[in-house]
Amino acid sequence: MTTSEEPTPTKMAVTCHTVDCPESGVTFVVNMYPNASEPIWRAQCGACGQTITDITPAVPVSP
Ligand SMILES: [Zn+2]
Repeated sequence: MTTSEEPTPTKMAVTCHTVDCPESGVTFVVNMYPNASEPIWRAQCGACGQTITDITPAVPVSP
């Protein structure tokens, strides 16, 4: 059973730049779904809870 409407997650590299954040400058690759309206990509830092604005497409790593 498959649904053609099922959205495909996109791997995105997100980096928090909050000064006081313990994860500041650390890039995480996460599966994200694009939003229907701007901003297309939205993420929140799991460590400091701030909105992450540095979101770039993660380049797939080939072996
Ligand atoms: Zn953070």
